[in-house]
Amino acid sequence: MLSSLKEILEIQEFDIKMIQLILLKRERRKELNLIHANQESLRQKIADQNGVILEIKKLIRLMEGEHSEIQTKIKKLEAQQYAIKKVDEYNAIMHEISAADRERLSKELRLSDFYDRLNNEEELQKKLQSTLDTAIESSLAVENEINESILQINAEGRSLKSARDELVKNVDSTIFATYERLLNNKKNRVVVPLENRCCSGCHIMLTAQHENLVRKGERIVFCEHCSRIHYWQESKGLEDSVIATKQRRRRTVK
Ligand SMILES: [Zn+2]
Repeated sequence: MLSSLKEILEIQEFDIKMIQLILLKRERRKELNLIHANQESLRQKIADQNGVILEIKKLIRLMEGEHSEIQTKIKKLEAQQYAIKKVDEYNAIMHEISAADRERLSKELRLSDFYDRLNNEEELQKKLQSTLDTAIESSLAVENEINESILQINAEGRSLKSARDELVKNVDSTIFATYERLLNNKKNRVVVPLENRCCSGCHIMLTAQHENLVRKGERIVFCEHCSRIHYWQESKGLEDSVIATKQRRRRTVK
């Protein structure tokens, strides 16, 4: 394998970890945003409900004012009635009193409806508030956990970055530029082994000539299908057999 590719492979492992961290952080942020959006929508509902309640209270005050005006009017008419001697005048006032009384009754009925409505809306308001309180309380632990994990991700990211920066100092700048361009494009491994003449990036078969070029390792060879850089894993078969031997040995020891 090209020696410059070995360094790139090391950097690539750091980059893959970094990409995973970024994705994880994005997921965690999303969870956090969802929690906050949920609480925000409850707050908005409560604010709207406050508006409804204020509006009803305003109407009630208005109707109570009108009601007490009618009562005053009735009392006045009754006082006049005592002073009156003529029957027809007496009857006229009597008529006015009963009309005012009907008005008073209907005002009271409407008021009673509005008191009921106010009650219901205030009940709903209490329920919304208690739902919000419960939501805040129950998500507190989750939020702390998420914030904690984001801090951890950031710390891990910083240490990954400084280790990667060290490696980048010694790497062939031309190959590195190509690698970075590919990585930004694919957001996944872009230096991959050729396995059984198959690209382990796009899983498409390549020619024997291509395999030979990769095996020789004299220059950078790109996959003609996915543009990834190929390398030859000479030691893979060897490593596998070493592991197998070790496992066999362990079995015999037992
Ligand atoms: Zn490929």
